[in-house]
Amino acid sequence: MAKRGLVWFKNDLRLHDNEALFRAQEECDDLIFCFCIEKKDFDKQELGFRRVDVNRFKFMQQAILDLRKRLEAVGGHLVVGEISALETIPMLIEEYDITDIYAEEEYASYEINLANQVVNTLPDINFHFFWGKTLYHKDDIPFEIAKIPLTSKAYRIPVGTHTEPRTAFKTPTNLNGVKKIKTKKIPTYSAYGFTKDEYGNSKPLVEGGETAALERLEYYTFKSELLTGYRWSRNKSDGLDYSSKFSPYLALGCISAREIYSKVKDYEAKIKKNQSTWWLVFELVWRDYFTFKGMRFGNAIFKTKGYKNKNIEWENDPLKFEKWCEGNTGIPFIDAHMRQLNQTGYMSNRGRVNCASYFVHDLRIDWTWGAAYFEAKLIDYDVSSNWMNWHMQAFEIWYTNPVHQSNKYKAQDFIRKWIPELSDRSDIEVLVPWEFDIPAYPTPIEVYKKWSRAINLIQKVAV
Ligand code: FAD
Repeated sequence: MAKRGLVWFKNDLRLHDNEALFRAQEECDDLIFCFCIEKKDFDKQELGFRRVDVNRFKFMQQAILDLRKRLEAVGGHLVVGEISALETIPMLIEEYDITDIYAEEEYASYEINLANQVVNTLPDINFHFFWGKTLYHKDDIPFEIAKIPLTSKAYRIPVGTHTEPRTAFKTPTNLNGVKKIKTKKIPTYSAYGFTKDEYGNSKPLVEGGETAALERLEYYTFKSELLTGYRWSRNKSDGLDYSSKFSPYLALGCISAREIYSKVKDYEAKIKKNQSTWWLVFELVWRDYFTFKGMRFGNAIFKTKGYKNKNIEWENDPLKFEKWCEGNTGIPFIDAHMRQLNQTGYMSNRGRVNCASYFVHDLRIDWTWGAAYFEAKLIDYDVSSNWMNWHMQAFEIWYTNPVHQSNKYKAQDFIRKWIPELSDRSDIEVLVPWEFDIPAYPTPIEVYKKWSRAINLIQKVAV
């Protein structure tokens, strides 16, 4: 009997370094390709917002469109399901006599449950799952998942000494796709409840898709050599160049961590090896660490008490939560970042640290609300990177003072850009607007005593 494979794309929207695709092409007589949008992901949640908001939708749509083009260029065609994998995949199986399904292995409960449901619905199909998310393969690290260390250092050093990332899989140049596939256009925003205005006004920070991802990788390395200065620029907040912007592409798998690693190694050999090249790989290792640590603790990483089961009395003031979400807290460094997030689906790491720390330690709102809001908005939303970073802000890390940080990182222009009410204000006014009469901008929820030194320091410069 002929072996007909279905390649089920999920968060691996690429042709390069894609083991599921590579093996399917190697092992099957012919292939069908699909991606399934899960309609219920766009439903409103208890907290009043969608699980996946419009910038994430648009970015994903761009990535799917790009994948379809790239597959077509090498003999494949992408079927896009509109409602759920649970509907599209059984339908394809029946219509096309598929015998085998190839897909990336999942690591978090919601995604695992969905994959398991598909498996259970199709008892006669052979499933082949492949690990593809991390830089170091899950089977190569010197720890069982149940024993992933509690500190990053205890993870990082043994991994770095005992393990090498595997070589990336080659991009297929000729796929034996089934020729006559009935297919539809890629579903549009209205199918998921977005309005024309919402969709039209949404502007993800970067364009989605493998093509844009590979261009970005080339740009950040060999073309601009920005990578050489990464170590010193990475803490800024605005613009495309201070950090790699690989995260949105990694989140949907438009690029693989191994592909980035191999480019960095090439860059080290041909252009420059320095603290910056080391640091970029270090960040990818962080991403791995959070993935594996998240797997170790399972659903406890989504719980208010966290995986340490700690009791903290949260105040959970809904009005404060709303002001934080909208970027109207009256603290410019926080508001500028939150407005940037709302408009572009992206926020710098500096911004994320400050907004999360302020949320947890000053507003004293349950950290899972903040993490859920980031999940809705971030085009680079990644289960473990998001929830583990929030968990760390809530339980493990020191307080970050947003007034001090706005001064330290010279955020004046950034604030003027994202808060139009402050766009013509002086360098001092934009950092501590409550000290002046600026009626257009919200008065702060609270100005804390612990900020006094930072405020004085900012005002001293004015004297
Ligand atoms: P670069 O500085 O260029 O770093 C290169 C890559 O390293 C990133 O693309 C990312 O994959 C990885 N990386 C860097 N920092 C971290 C980190 N702290 N944790 C894990 N991986 C990291 N990152 C996400 O990818 N998705 C998220 O949902 C996410 N949520 C976050 C929530 C909070 C509260 C915080 C504090 C951080 C979060 N991060 C998240 C981590 C980090 O902020 C982003 O990865 C980074 O800002 C992305 O921009 P970049 O690609 O230019 O990063």
